[in-house]
Amino acid sequence: METDYIIIGGGSAGAVLAGRLSEDAAVSVALLEAGGGGDDALIRTPLAVAAILPTKIHNYAYETVPQPGLNGRRGYQPRGKGLGGSSAINAMVYIRGHASDYNHWAELGNPGWSWNDMLPYFIRSEDNQSLNGPLHGKGGPLAVSDLQTDNPFIETYFEAARQTGFAFNPDFNGEEQEGVGPYQVTQKNGERWSAARGYLFPHMGRRPNLRVETGARATRILFEGARAVGVEYVQRGRKLTLRARREILLAAGSLVSPQLLMLSGVGPAEQLQRHGIDVLRDIPGVGRNLQDHPDFVFGFKAKSLDLVGFSPAGMARMAGHGRRYLASRRGMLASNAAEAGAFLRSDPALPAPDLQLHFVVAILDNHARTLHAAHGYSCHVCLLRPKSRGSVTLASADPAAAPLIDPAFFAEADDLEAMVKGFKLTRKLLDAPALRQVTRRDLFTAGVESDDEIRAVLKARSDTIYHPIGTCRMGPGRDAVVDARLKVHGLEGLRVADASIMPTLIGGNTNAPTIAIAEKAVDMIRAELNHDR
Ligand SMILES: Cc1cc2nc3c(=O)[nH]c(=O)nc-3n(C[C@H](O)[C@H](O)[C@H](O)COP(=O)(O)OP(=O)(O)OC[C@H]3O[C@@H](n4cnc5c(N)ncnc54)[C@H](O)[C@@H]3O)c2cc1C
Repeated sequence: METDYIIIGGGSAGAVLAGRLSEDAAVSVALLEAGGGGDDALIRTPLAVAAILPTKIHNYAYETVPQPGLNGRRGYQPRGKGLGGSSAINAMVYIRGHASDYNHWAELGNPGWSWNDMLPYFIRSEDNQSLNGPLHGKGGPLAVSDLQTDNPFIETYFEAARQTGFAFNPDFNGEEQEGVGPYQVTQKNGERWSAARGYLFPHMGRRPNLRVETGARATRILFEGARAVGVEYVQRGRKLTLRARREILLAAGSLVSPQLLMLSGVGPAEQLQRHGIDVLRDIPGVGRNLQDHPDFVFGFKAKSLDLVGFSPAGMARMAGHGRRYLASRRGMLASNAAEAGAFLRSDPALPAPDLQLHFVVAILDNHARTLHAAHGYSCHVCLLRPKSRGSVTLASADPAAAPLIDPAFFAEADDLEAMVKGFKLTRKLLDAPALRQVTRRDLFTAGVESDDEIRAVLKARSDTIYHPIGTCRMGPGRDAVVDARLKVHGLEGLRVADASIMPTLIGGNTNAPTIAIAEKAVDMIRAELNHDR
């Protein structure tokens, strides 16, 4: 069994790699995805994210190791399982990040990754249904649209922002990121548009050179000397191998890509030896440098049936919305929950916003694992460029075991202090008369006033907003894992192309950037292929 390229993982990045590389009929591509087909009514219906997030439906639902910065609590790490990966279970917010993030990547020794280098890939991937202009793309595989919810409550949030003095920003991916505004989402006609739906589904069964294996869990990358030549995987209980004539592209996401490298003998030698794994290449950076956005969620009960919630009147209203969604794909079921947001600076002297808000039209408590019999709203505030660095390490040499995930939230005291500022700024907005008028009860922060009280509630309630990156960091030097062409240092025939290669967190959500990374990877792979032809 041989193919030109093997892609491990069919998520945001893997779907792009497989879809794009198989455009060339002369190359053969095989995609190995551990989960299923990634296409059902739950995935397609945006609001069903509320049912997926707290469960194991299409979701690995990992836990972190106990976090000293969070009073010893274990954090939650949902990750998508199935074609589309996390883009099939995420909140669909379409954000590219700040130009300075990519310029920083280039400054760290990664030529070709500046904002001017990356912008064409964002535009190439995008099919924006409403926004025009030089910064937006039309006709790309990734549908991006305005929300189809027609929810009047969002105006209340915007009014509160106006009352607080925050500028309105109608397009966070335009010239300026800062301000308060609506989110655009990866949807088309009110349905989720995962990376698989955009890049993969239209070609499956139609391109003879594209082979997609689901329920195929890679367990090890096989090497001959320093060259990666194949992948061992398990499918329907059978152990199988597939060989690659040209390259293996690892896209299993920030938590599994480093794990698979380590299981294959590539990683910190001392750790591999501890687990009885033969060391092929000692790369200390594999699994290090884990970064994630620490996030705190305010929650309020409120007097409005325009907010998603559990009540007899709310249920009746939801039934109406269900009928409307079936008929026109509009209304509450088209909601991604986090309908609007903001990018703010905790200090006006900062060169870019360091805080992001997600305004949610429901009470969100403990990743929707704790439900409230009420209507209400929530507001996330997260720190965009935390200083803390965590890790992904092996729990055992068994590929079926989850890795040990340590985001090290608030390990650096500066992160907690920046979040204190973020808490106060967000609260100013939430305290504005427009929201005050409709609010019944502050669920988590009543009486929290002093800095010490704020620190305490932050430690007691913060967790991820689902953006782990950095565990196969791109860069020069011994602690980096891949070079600027995404090739694993010191090895041949092996690249990593997913969120794990980001050297530092970007100022925003990570799906669109991961898709852009994969688009760029395809360009680099094609250039080498054409050179060899
Ligand atoms: C709940 C949630 C909400 C989010 N909200 C947003 C948002 O609103 N906007 C945004 O921009 N970003 C959001 N994100 C983040 C964003 O979706 C991710 O950063 C992005 O999808 C990561 O892409 P990836 O390709 O690196 O990994 P993934 O998309 O996670 O893909 C990895 C794939 O590899 C597969 N895989 C794993 N192990 C193996 C194996 N051994 N063999 C074969 N296949 C394997 C997995 O099943 C999965 O399909 C959210 C994420 C989550 C989880």
